[in-house]
Amino acid sequence: MPDQPITRATIEGYLHDALPPERAAAVEKAIRERPALLALVAQVRQETDHGEHSIGAVWWRERLSCPTREQLSMALEEILDDDFAAYVTAHVKLVGCHVCQATLDDLRQLRAEAVAPRTERRRRIVDSSAGVFRDVTVR
Ligand SMILES: [Zn+2]
Repeated sequence: MPDQPITRATIEGYLHDALPPERAAAVEKAIRERPALLALVAQVRQETDHGEHSIGAVWWRERLSCPTREQLSMALEEILDDDFAAYVTAHVKLVGCHVCQATLDDLRQLRAEAVAPRTERRRRIVDSSAGVFRDVTVR
């Protein structure tokens, strides 16, 4: 039932691990897709607990998933849909996820390297293929 509304009670169930696994997965997915729900999670948490309740702290505690490397790459290319792009931005900037920040830095560097030496790499490939074809022709 992916379209069941997510109410405050749903969030409470999610936080207390009281939802069936499929429903919990759907709720987590919804939180990822709708950053506003994360604020509700933080609010419910604040009202039912007395620990640290910043959105970032809740995010860490609940271990909401990091985007995949591919998704981070899509974020750099700005081809994610708006909601997921907002999630990635919040995850990296608001939560300050060092793992994803490192992945983004790595992807940026790879992109920079991929643009510059492309012609050099193509030349090398052409040179090495020339050798292969020469061998083939000889036989
Ligand atoms: Zn992350």
